[in-house]
Amino acid sequence: MKNKLAQRIRDLPPYLFARIDELKSEQRARGVDLIDLGIGDPDLPTPPNVVAALQEAAANPAHHRYPSYSGMLEFRKAAVDFCARRFGLDLDPATEALALIGSKEGIAHFPVAFVDPGDLVLVPDPGYPVYGTGTKFCGGEVHVMPLRRENGFLPDLSAIPKDVAERAKVMWINYPNNPTAALAPRSFYENVVAFAKEHDVIVASDVAYSEMYYDDERPMSFLEVPGAKDVGIEFHSLSKTYNMTGWRVGFAVGNRDLISGLGKVKTNVDSGVFEAVQRAATEALAGDQSSVEDMRRIYRERRDVLCKGLMSLGHEVLAPKATFYCLVAVPKGYSSLEFAAKLLTEAGIVATPATGFGAWGEGYVRLTLCADKSRLAEVVERLKRC
Ligand SMILES: *Cc1c(COP(=O)(O)O)cnc(C)c1O
Repeated sequence: MKNKLAQRIRDLPPYLFARIDELKSEQRARGVDLIDLGIGDPDLPTPPNVVAALQEAAANPAHHRYPSYSGMLEFRKAAVDFCARRFGLDLDPATEALALIGSKEGIAHFPVAFVDPGDLVLVPDPGYPVYGTGTKFCGGEVHVMPLRRENGFLPDLSAIPKDVAERAKVMWINYPNNPTAALAPRSFYENVVAFAKEHDVIVASDVAYSEMYYDDERPMSFLEVPGAKDVGIEFHSLSKTYNMTGWRVGFAVGNRDLISGLGKVKTNVDSGVFEAVQRAATEALAGDQSSVEDMRRIYRERRDVLCKGLMSLGHEVLAPKATFYCLVAVPKGYSSLEFAAKLLTEAGIVATPATGFGAWGEGYVRLTLCADKSRLAEVVERLKRC
């Protein structure tokens, strides 16, 4: 059997969490009550109005057939209306919006439309791993943009060498950021648009956490900046906003040529999102938004319990203004992986070494707020004891 894996799969980076997974099973086998703050997956349920919309739509035979490739116009209208209400964007639902099977699907497929072998793609580090793997699956080369704390975890565009900038085809940006929780100011987006125009680079912005913010500073859309629609596409997710990670629905908006390019890939790969799910997603975006306020209040309270607690123990914690991720600085003498292993074996706490998101994550572990307040208080208690 010719079962040798394709080169692109053999080239995938080694799985960094193998050691953590091993320790997790060991601890579990010993009966340790693990508190898992490793994975960014909301523990809260999808709002009931969304579930009800799915139930009703699922019973309607009109939705049992193949959906349209680009998504129901009704869903794309709801997406565009959401962007108008929230960010003041003016988008055409027919040509500037596309339904996705979760934003990850669109992020992974985008390079298939625009990256040729040998093309260069600018990727933030630490960052969501899909930007880099999607690039490499298409034979593209990754140029890392380090996200440094002293620079607010924004890439330093002026540090990108001229020849790299000239060769670059796509730049990925992601604010509010996973894993650093950083927000981007308007001036950053303005610089990105100027950079993209000067060097003829496509901007791909991932705003999966745009609604997950806790203070007065509301995250903006990159497309709010004048000229952004000439150069960019933005990937939106319902997963974190409406606790819908399992539903697999999201959307892309932006430049019509970029949307249409991604759409061409999708017509050849998938057959769209189940229409009943699109009906439910329409309800999520267009219906009662009080669940989003509740979500923010719950995570804000959790953030305060966990971050204040850890700080009171002397830990250096970057308390998030957005996203549900808290970076904790690793004490001297440990690597990120070693510190995560110590948290697991000595306190039964699962944290993610930030090196799982790239080499520039060294020095931090990432904790999520995906557990209730009493469990987060328990995290603080356990650390106090060890
Ligand atoms: C969770 C996440 C996504 C993916 O969300 P889906 O819409 O569920 O595919 C995209 N980008 C980042 C940075 C994320 O953390």
